[in-house]
Amino acid sequence: MAEIRVENLRKAFGEFVAVQDSSFTVENGEFLALLGPSGCGKTTTLRMIAGLELPTGGTIRLGGEDVTYKRASERDIAFVFQLFALYPHMNVRKNIGFPLLAQGVAKAEIKARVEETARLLQIDHILDRPVSGLAGGDRQRVALGRAIVRRPMCFLMDEPLGTLDAEFREVMVRELRELHNRIHATTVYVTHDQIEAMAMADKIAVMNHGVIEQFGTPQEIYDRPASMYVADFIGSPPMNFIRFTGGLARGARMARIGAAEVAMPELRADVPPGPLALGVRPEHVRFSDASPLRGAIYGSEYLGTNQIVTVETEGGLVRARLAAEQSYRIGEPVGLTFKSDRLSLFDAGSGRVIP
Ligand code: ATP
Repeated sequence: MAEIRVENLRKAFGEFVAVQDSSFTVENGEFLALLGPSGCGKTTTLRMIAGLELPTGGTIRLGGEDVTYKRASERDIAFVFQLFALYPHMNVRKNIGFPLLAQGVAKAEIKARVEETARLLQIDHILDRPVSGLAGGDRQRVALGRAIVRRPMCFLMDEPLGTLDAEFREVMVRELRELHNRIHATTVYVTHDQIEAMAMADKIAVMNHGVIEQFGTPQEIYDRPASMYVADFIGSPPMNFIRFTGGLARGARMARIGAAEVAMPELRADVPPGPLALGVRPEHVRFSDASPLRGAIYGSEYLGTNQIVTVETEGGLVRARLAAEQSYRIGEPVGLTFKSDRLSLFDAGSGRVIP
């Protein structure tokens, strides 16, 4: 059992609250991504789980045991840092085996476990090479090897791919996920990169100013964002918001936006009059001459397999992901329709979704 359970976790640095009453559970074998912009408290959360930072409040349980005030060395975890320091004077084999040597594991067992780990990471052919000459991806694999060779209860990773260039990153994202599929170690992974989080994680915690705005599977977070912040942070380009003012009755299926009646998600309660925003992902926007919701082409971005076409409407700019073949003139009038079962409605004041 290597479940991580965090309850009301809090960290203040003087007056400044870096992490506010966070609660979440990473199930045994699950991969959690802590996702958010720089400074939102991801690293501080991870460092508290690791035992490198003492919480101001709350509890942390690893495999059922309360470790809140235990030292890092008393927790059965492996921390993979962004700037991993390999021992430059040792070869790959010695680098991977070092944690076992430090634990006093017998030589024959070290050899077997290092080789098994190297096979898992597909670096068994470079075991006897010096680490100084290795390329970025191989260095990363050696660093991972050093972390997994101990078979810790869980892995904590802080932007481990942060220093790699885009091409390597993509390869490593795939490798990390495949590695996870093979060893199923409970993992918490800090990143500001939504694509990394979406591609790797079983669950994502989206953080904003020390608060977890939403915790869920990548699909839940993408399809049913809990707030405009989450909807805007996830997706590239992000969700469109069509702003309008009004009140809506429970069960209403249409809203008046400018001169047009637009189909809505079904509402479970009355929505008092106020500023609202209809959220629609670019892939759920279509052009239709007959639609009363009008706009004019503002620009387009060709992406090869498709294109992002931006339309200026009364409710603001709307981006549509469309087939690449069709071309549009700037200023050309178009009608817009949205896939009504894929819309979200937000209170534009608080930014929260209206269920
Ligand atoms: P980044 O990706 O930039 O590391 P992050 O989301 O991981 O961002 P944290 O490193 O957890 O953010 O920092 C959260 C906030 O807490 C930041 O505003 C940071 O300046 C502040 N902070 C972190 N450590 C300390 C500290 N030791 N003393 C004072 N403030 C700190």
